[in-house]
Amino acid sequence: MVMLMDLYAAWPEDEHFVNANELVRRLIQRNPDYWDTASAYGRALTVQRLGRTLVQIKIRSSKNSRDQRGYARADFLKSWRQSGIIPRIEPVEPSGSGEASANTPVFEPVEPSQTVEPATARTICRVCSAPLLAPASRAAGICGKRNPEHDAERVAA
Ligand SMILES: [Zn+2]
Repeated sequence: MVMLMDLYAAWPEDEHFVNANELVRRLIQRNPDYWDTASAYGRALTVQRLGRTLVQIKIRSSKNSRDQRGYARADFLKSWRQSGIIPRIEPVEPSGSGEASANTPVFEPVEPSQTVEPATARTICRVCSAPLLAPASRAAGICGKRNPEHDAERVAA
């Protein structure tokens, strides 16, 4: 929705409330092809048309302490997030299903030396075939038994 994008772009974060006339002026200034008289609509954007459009996404104008009609920036945050104009705040909004691709964690690249050995080589001891449970044993590929065969393998490795 172009209006949402232009509003976001024309609305600094620290401005909590903007007069409706001012918002219209900013939209036209920012994107005249879309909002000024030369637009496909044929007429410049007005406060009324802005209001009608925003009501469709359940954003309504309100009055500030000086009795000026305008819009609160906070009312737009949800729509901006839903349309991807501002990124979702991931810790606050745990993603439902179907959004996994956007939140896929980035894994550190695996060292090439670790990928050469098949996984099975590191889950059993290469001397006695005992299952290796401790991370250190798995890294070495050898269990913790103390006997000549194991000691010889450990030295060799
Ligand atoms: Zn062993």
